[in-house]
Amino acid sequence: MNIKETDNKYVMGTYKRFPVEIVSGKGSVVYDVQGKSYIDMGSGIGVTIFGIADEQWKDAIIEQISKVQHMSNLYYTQPCAELAKMLCEKTGMKKVFFGNSGAEANECAIKVARKYASDKYGASRHTIITLENSFHGRTLTTLAATGQDHYHELFQPLTPGFVTVPANDIDALVKVAKETNAAAVMLECIQGEGGVLPLDAEYIKAVRKFTEENDIIMIVDEVQTGNGRTGMLYSYMNFGIVPDVVSTAKGLAGGLPLGAAMVGEKCQNTLGFGDHGSTFGGNPVSCAAAVSILGRIDDKLLADVRKKSAYIFESLKGAPGVESVSGMGLMIGVKTKKPASEVVSKCIENGVLCLTAKDKVRLLPALNIPMDVLEKAISTIKAACV
Ligand code: PLP
Repeated sequence: MNIKETDNKYVMGTYKRFPVEIVSGKGSVVYDVQGKSYIDMGSGIGVTIFGIADEQWKDAIIEQISKVQHMSNLYYTQPCAELAKMLCEKTGMKKVFFGNSGAEANECAIKVARKYASDKYGASRHTIITLENSFHGRTLTTLAATGQDHYHELFQPLTPGFVTVPANDIDALVKVAKETNAAAVMLECIQGEGGVLPLDAEYIKAVRKFTEENDIIMIVDEVQTGNGRTGMLYSYMNFGIVPDVVSTAKGLAGGLPLGAAMVGEKCQNTLGFGDHGSTFGGNPVSCAAAVSILGRIDDKLLADVRKKSAYIFESLKGAPGVESVSGMGLMIGVKTKKPASEVVSKCIENGVLCLTAKDKVRLLPALNIPMDVLEKAISTIKAACV
């Protein structure tokens, strides 16, 4: 049996895979089992932010794996402490909890918000408000937070205490927050899985003002938007706000599993001994990878992300077969006249891997994709749209 046949026989069929068997890669180019090359415009859904098998990233991992690959959280390890310090210094947050994925980062964020509210106002203050069309993960609690009914239908009952409101409607949010005695509001500044839809800047600011004035915890889910993706370290930084809780994962460790929930001053002491934990959380190898990755997301790289973003917008806006282009930085949604899946299949045929999000073609390339490689990919995508 080849890779595809073995996978189809033994792996649960939860993913609709394209018929591509990737065996290796370097930077923004990957190779399949037949040796065909593809430009990677998806980066593992926003994970391999410095590309495949990046040398600096590899060195950081190899160095750490040769020292110690795992210790329980009963002991201190240097990469975990160093990464938490870096995250706090770069964001102004005060404390970090490490898990292994975006869903777990959000679970922690939700637990923080629930405990903060119940400690201060009693257990009846527990409702978390999220937005329609949002995506926060696949665990039962983060599914409950996800504002898309089709993900819920087969898995009832979900964790109670979540209410969704329409995005960009501050009056609706305020009304529901008052009716439900809300503990928290949770949102993505750009809804990724929802179709790469940025929220209105005024709305984000209004949510922050309202939550601040009413001691409601504001959680910003930076799982997809974080770690340089939008041209700032975290997407909330584009809007001049500071949330109470920030969750991140995906690109944080550049391709190893790692998630983090960061809390600001208000919630820095909310979780104490025994309130939360994770066997693999803060794993030294994942944290060493993340220290190396975060250390490289500097002003120059972010300026480069914004420059490449402008190039993609200019190239695709108004191009034949393209209806609209949305997003920020290197998180881009392209509404095509043809069905997005057709465009993506054509791109695969012609050696470019793209993603979809709802009815759009979604582009999440590595942040350091070389300009000539990006130009080649965009020209292939443009041709596939016609
Ligand atoms: N939150 C957002 C905004 C996401 O885009 C995702 C995944 O796509 C998640 C949470 C869940 O992350 P994970 O798949 O690592 O659990």
